[in-house]
This record gives sequence, structure tokens and C-alpha cells, in this order.
Amino acid sequence: MLDGIAMVKRLLGLPGMNVLEVTEGDDELVIKVETAETIGWCPGCGSRAQAQDRTTRSVRDLSCFGRAVRLDVWCRRWRCREARCATKTWTENVEQLDATAVLTRRAGAEACRQVGQQARPVAAVARDFGVCWWTVMNAVIEHGTPLVDNPDRVGTVTKLGVDETSFQAARPGVATKYVTGLVDLERRAMIDMTPGN
Ligand SMILES: [Zn+2]
Repeated sequence: MLDGIAMVKRLLGLPGMNVLEVTEGDDELVIKVETAETIGWCPGCGSRAQAQDRTTRSVRDLSCFGRAVRLDVWCRRWRCREARCATKTWTENVEQLDATAVLTRRAGAEACRQVGQQARPVAAVARDFGVCWWTVMNAVIEHGTPLVDNPDRVGTVTKLGVDETSFQAARPGVATKYVTGLVDLERRAMIDMTPGN
């Protein structure tokens, strides 16, 4: 029989993280975890690092039972023991956190999927995750750019349609802005857009 913490660790599904505590906030679940890595290497000189202390990074994870989840990740700070090395101390790089360390990588991927695949407004997704608009937009850029850049995304196009559309109407001092869309006419799918006409 698993105790509660062992059960949460199994359900959490984040390898390399130990669950320390689960508490209920006002309108969120707070899960305190620590990274389990015990050996570190200096990114500057490559020598074996010494553990210095820990620092907490708070990030949003996937919501759970309709409630926002905050992960308080107790990350290790390392120190280089080489006196002549310019890299003195650093916080460990945690693979599961996104580039800006506001969301877990899987929460960022889910936010991107909701915007890109389900066409949900960025603001609505941001509200659900309990984060600001730019956090979701950054996740869309981080996770969506490799998808857009993937050459296999488009495949072979036999009939290409090109059409310009006004994107923003003219106002005093500003001319009408256009975008030009490239359309696969057989699949009836937009494959790219480019500014201007
Ligand atoms: Zn070093």
C-alpha cells in the first residue's frame, strides 16, 4: 500500500522529482517537489560541482481536477570548486521546466496545443492556467515554432493558391495592411502567411 506522498509522486509523472508536500491554496493545488539529481558538473570547466544550497522556482503545471496546479520546485544551486574557474555558482537546469521557467514543459505544450489545435484565444488559455497572456504566447512560440518550421508539415502541394487579404483597415496616417495567404487548393488548407501583398 502506497502512502499519500508516494501516490502523488507516481501520479505526477515527472521523472527526477521527489514530492515533498501537497497543500491546498485559495484556488490552486500546491505541490512541493525537489529535484533528485545528486551529481552536477560545472558548465564552465567541466569539473565535478559541489552542492551549495537550494532555491525555489514556482511554475504552473497542468491543471488537476479543474484546479490550477502550482509546482514549487526546490532546485539545487551548485558551486564550482575550481578557484580559477569564472563560473562560481549556478542553478541547475531542470529539463521539465520551460525556457522562461514559468510553466512546466508539458504545461507549455498543452497551452500551445489548445491555442494552435483547438484555436482557443490566448487570453482564455491564460485564464485557465492562472498565468498572464505573454506566458501562454511564449509557450506557443517555444512549442509551436518547431512545428511550423517542420518541412514535412506541408508535404507535396500540386495546386497552390495565393491570395491577399486586408489585415488591418486604413486609419489616419496608416495605410491598409495586407497579408498574403498561401493555400493548398486540393487539401483546402492554409499552409503559410506572409506580411504585405
Ligand atoms: Zn568550473
